[in-house]
Amino acid sequence: MSIITKVIARQVFDSRGNPTVEAEVFSKNISSSSICPSGASTGSFEAYEKRDLNKKNYNGKSVFKAVKIINTIIAKKLKNQNVHSQETIDHILLKLDGTKQKTKLGANSMLAVSMAVKKLSSKIKKIPLYKNFLVKNKFFLPYPLMNIINGGAHANNGLQVQEFMIRPDGAKSFTQAIKMSFSVINNLRTILKKLNLSTSVGDEGGYAPMISSNIQALNLILKAIKMSGFVNGKDISICLDVAANELFKKNKYSIHSKKYVSVDKSISEYKKLIKKFKIKSIEDPFAENDWKSWNKFMIATNKEIQIVGDDLYVTNLERLKIGFLNQSSNAILIKLNQIGTVTETIEVIKFAQNIGFNTIISHRSGESEDTFIADLAVGTNSNQIKSGSLCRSERVAKYNQILRIEESLGKKAKMNRL
Ligand code: PEP
Ligand code: MG
Repeated sequence: MSIITKVIARQVFDSRGNPTVEAEVFSKNISSSSICPSGASTGSFEAYEKRDLNKKNYNGKSVFKAVKIINTIIAKKLKNQNVHSQETIDHILLKLDGTKQKTKLGANSMLAVSMAVKKLSSKIKKIPLYKNFLVKNKFFLPYPLMNIINGGAHANNGLQVQEFMIRPDGAKSFTQAIKMSFSVINNLRTILKKLNLSTSVGDEGGYAPMISSNIQALNLILKAIKMSGFVNGKDISICLDVAANELFKKNKYSIHSKKYVSVDKSISEYKKLIKKFKIKSIEDPFAENDWKSWNKFMIATNKEIQIVGDDLYVTNLERLKIGFLNQSSNAILIKLNQIGTVTETIEVIKFAQNIGFNTIISHRSGESEDTFIADLAVGTNSNQIKSGSLCRSERVAKYNQILRIEESLGKKAKMNRL
């Protein structure tokens, strides 16, 4: 047994330059640290992110209270606990907090500690992090979902849809998946340049050209796929994250243009896009409380595409159960900081896999150099990983980590099913 001897925390900064929490957990002279990410288009049922809210300090965004909570309350309680007892440790954190949305300790303080404990346990066991989750020997690598055009809350170009992504479905290895994505992204840059459109990037590394129509964005991607010599819908698939919470008002949606229209009209427009652009996956097509429309959409698309709940489920088991009963989707996006501990995240992944849902491990739009999610994706045999474009080090770091894992698995490395 290895026991925790010390827990400390500090304020560091995320990819948007905002303060965030880093925790470091020690067992004698060995330590591991982890950094909590942060979202921009957050679901209202997400666990609470504790910020100091003092306008004079980092515009209210500092996290000194969360850091202090780790350095005092959490550190005291975790001292002498077995590093390898992740569930016990996470339950201590949950008990210490005692609230529904983790408002007392803050999910940012809890998660930074929870992830650091998991990393320390692997380090002490001398095994790679990905071998310290659910899967013990038959590992399958996730397909990357690369966000190549940013809109919505992640850019200021006026695009309704938040993320236009590509998924290299034809790839036989992760290395090939990255190579195929590289080609499309590079060709997209050439196309944008030719059109005198900006090639500067948004929060997740995708381009953020000043265009304001979904169709225009989709046509640009289609052109880049063709220019790369790939067949759209076969070699490469186009996938969307609509983040419809941001596009919802009085039972109407402004998904397909700035005009708010009914759910039925939104669905028929979705169906046209799916057909024309062979879209294979749509995340958050409707708002987080609009269960009825999610089910309508599932029926309308007849299981032909992947429908992903992000803000809908917020990596929360109770909400996932509702979604399952309501037949709201067939996939779930997994974000550790939406729920706040590693143990709860694993429980949700296990449940989702048991009911036949695809699991997609995801970054947040505010990220860091921490590559925990790459190992989590492999170690849970999750089908896909969403970590932005092949651009911005905090995004690429996750893809690079999976390349390392693929190399270490050698011939045993196989891609997951889609
Ligand atoms: C998302 O909505 O899937 C996403 C990654 O963005 P954010 O982190 O802003 O919620
Ligand atoms: Mg989303």
